Amino acid sequence: MSGEDQELPVFTTAADMRNWVRKQKKSGRKVALVPTMGYLHDAHLSLVKAALEKADVVVASIYVNPTQFAAHEDFDVYPRNADEDRAKLKAVGAHAVFEPESLYVQVPGASEGANVVGRETHHPDSHETYVTVERLQKPLCGGSRPHFFRGVCTVVTKLFHICEPDVAVFGRKDYQQFRVISRMVRDLDFPIEVVGVPIGREADGLAMSSRNARLSPESREKALCLSRGLAWAEKAAAEGSVSDSAAVQAHVRGLIEEAGGKVDYVELLHAINLGPVTDLSSQPVLLALAVHFPAKDVGTVRLIDNTVLNPDKE
Ligand code: AMP
Repeated sequence: MSGEDQELPVFTTAADMRNWVRKQKKSGRKVALVPTMGYLHDAHLSLVKAALEKADVVVASIYVNPTQFAAHEDFDVYPRNADEDRAKLKAVGAHAVFEPESLYVQVPGASEGANVVGRETHHPDSHETYVTVERLQKPLCGGSRPHFFRGVCTVVTKLFHICEPDVAVFGRKDYQQFRVISRMVRDLDFPIEVVGVPIGREADGLAMSSRNARLSPESREKALCLSRGLAWAEKAAAEGSVSDSAAVQAHVRGLIEEAGGKVDYVELLHAINLGPVTDLSSQPVLLALAVHFPAKDVGTVRLIDNTVLNPDKE
């Protein structure tokens, strides 16, 4: 049978997934994991390609993680299409898919202040243990989504224990997530190399996102203000025409508001430790954006994007 005719194995239980990975490792193969929430686009596939360069076999996980959504957020309308996802993963050369039905069932009271969605139950199988990266989770997305990184870290920890990867690949579009996971791996001694892949963009500059599918046509057009704002800042920093972070922040916020975006944050922080910065010339500086636009279904779509100014100083 040619490689193309072979079925892509899809595992739905932790035990089956772990058995498969252990067999691969016993045969001396290096394993990479690409965690996703599905509805895959080309940027997700670029993560799989990066993983294939780093390891012999690549597992992609697809799990819309309820613990990282608050009750008012878009868990119920988050786009899903498992069949297409599997076809795309097979075409790009992934070796297995992990599609757990449920990884975390919260006990009542365990989601203090976070109002997390998902099944809260007294069932004996429910969970109450969380992983928290205390400081790095606080700025940026942690401000408006205080539950978010605890949910990400807890479920990524479970994925790491189940898939036992040598390499884990994340996208730099979710820049804070990349830094938080890297810190968690270091702090908790996971024997895993964390790889950060550059942001994948549409031809007109919009960062690829599963959530783009929820934008109305007008919002899709307006959302270009994010990449335009970042490009303006990159140019200004490279030319040295602005040296003060507050000036960049004010200008980019103005561009976004003028285009009709509702700003959650426009922030400049040190690109490694996510601490405050004022001077732009001597250090790598993350310019990170989170902006709401009207959705075509219900409510708004929250998009994030970022760039690192002075990346050579990293
Ligand atoms: P998600 O399915 O949105 O949770 O994303 C799964 C992985 O793909 C995460 O590591 C994301 O950072 C990454 N990712 C999503 N969109 C992009 C993008 N446009 N460029 C680079 N990585 C991305």
